[in-house]
Amino acid sequence: GPIIDIDHLSKRYDSGTFALKDVSLQMQEGEILALLGPNGAGKTTLISIICGLVRPTGGTVRVGGHDIRTDWRAARKLIGLVPQEIALEPFEKVIDCVRFTRGLYGEPQDDAYLEQLLRSLALWDKRDAKTRELSGGMKRRVLIAKALSHRPKVLFLDEPTAGVDVALRREMWQVVRDLRAQGVTIILTTHYLEEAEDMADRIGVIRKGELLLVKPKDELMGEFGKKR
Ligand code: ADP
Ligand code: ADP
Repeated sequence: GPIIDIDHLSKRYDSGTFALKDVSLQMQEGEILALLGPNGAGKTTLISIICGLVRPTGGTVRVGGHDIRTDWRAARKLIGLVPQEIALEPFEKVIDCVRFTRGLYGEPQDDAYLEQLLRSLALWDKRDAKTRELSGGMKRRVLIAKALSHRPKVLFLDEPTAGVDVALRREMWQVVRDLRAQGVTIILTTHYLEEAEDMADRIGVIRKGELLLVKPKDELMGEFGKKR
């Protein structure tokens, strides 16, 4: 079955805002989906619900067959989240950052996977650098390494290129493509059609809490008259 199964999901915040309205979506393993939409569309809310950080007011979410309400622990093990904001301890070494997160998940501090993970994100040579010494792109890669430290099947990237320059954006795109080559299922959010087009297999357009459409990229780009 699908790795992610979202069925008639809705979210009304206590303030009265309907952040999500009847959203249904399925994702297959190994797929990359870009959620495209303006500020306030509900992208962060959707990711936060799937990750168990925000409680839905209606509908169901299953991750790897586990209902997030009744079987949250099992679901959470399958998920890695890279939040929008960069929050790293400035004086901590790269390798210690990742070891710390692995510890939280009960993973060994040092093993072959730790090295493989840091190498795959081109962080191995920087493993003893303090995070404050890193470039913006490297900091984001440390966040990805932390999110992947327990070998989740699904990775969420919330606006991975928000506030970064073009060169860094392209670097992030490459990182995502590399992760896909390793078989990780990815959902990312973005404001940019170009970014969705470049990174994703499918694009979902979300606006005012409604998932207006979800289509394979090629189909969608055809409709925009941009087929190459
Ligand atoms: P984004 O950058 O994803 O568009 P926002 O600027 O809408 O996020 O929100 C920034 C933060 O404020 C988020 O943590 C969000 O949960 C919170 N927030 C947004 N709108 C409200 C609101 N109406 N009431 C309370 N908190 C809100
Ligand atoms: P996006 O990530 O697409 O910018 P969000 O999911 O952050 O959208 O926000 C969707 C809507 O929900 C917005 O109207 C936002 O103001 C509102 N919202 C987000 N977080 C909260 C919150 N904690 N409390 C109340 N309203 C919120």
